[in-house]
Amino acid sequence: MSSLAVRLNDVRMRMARAAQHSRRDGVGMVAVTKTVATGIIAEAIALGLTDFGENRVHEARPKIEVFPAVEWHFIGRLQTNKVKDVVGRFKLIHSLDRWRLAEALQQEAQAQNVQVSVLIQVNLAGEGQKGGISPVELDDFLLAATDLPRVRVEGLMAIPPYTADPEEARPYFREMFRLFSKCRMPGGAMKLLSMGMSNDFEAAIEEGANLIRVGSLLFDREKYSQEE
Ligand SMILES: *Cc1c(COP(=O)(O)O)cnc(C)c1O
Repeated sequence: MSSLAVRLNDVRMRMARAAQHSRRDGVGMVAVTKTVATGIIAEAIALGLTDFGENRVHEARPKIEVFPAVEWHFIGRLQTNKVKDVVGRFKLIHSLDRWRLAEALQQEAQAQNVQVSVLIQVNLAGEGQKGGISPVELDDFLLAATDLPRVRVEGLMAIPPYTADPEEARPYFREMFRLFSKCRMPGGAMKLLSMGMSNDFEAAIEEGANLIRVGSLLFDREKYSQEE
């Protein structure tokens, strides 16, 4: 087996164990391919991965051209002037982090006559350098988003403060799940909770994530990375 196959098996086993532990099913995985070369992405597709995540528009575009048939997720900070390159190309934008971006997405989706699916990024810890809606603003943001007919809010996303010990992230995951459980989108479905990365995805699943974003654990960046 290739090293990617071995790593993928390992991640899948750990996901299943964490899900079983907390009796959750239907946990999906976005394989984060930033800096990963297309040859490796081809191998990942052959191994059955279907959903891929990128955090930069200019890096994602050529990859989407090579692999248009898989699902692409935008997971990085999105500038409003890049919205036209994202709407219509990505299945889901995980990082709706401010109202101006919501309006820009609405406008572009209208122009393209499509719907755009998003997750609201929540800044739970109030970290200044990170984007995101604060928990106290969330209800108003959701309500306001119902006025954007082309923008479909499908859930929440969070990146807790980095800690070497995943147990320290657990309270953030738990609080996110509490927020997720109580927020309602009038007429819509809040069904996705995107949280958990390579170093903490098990804790995230145990606390209620149903979509995780895993990069470095799958892709050996030192070996595979392509120069930008
Ligand atoms: C890079 C990235 C990930 C994946 O992180 P790893 O630690 O490599 O698993 C997940 N989410 C976002 C938003 C990222 O930028």
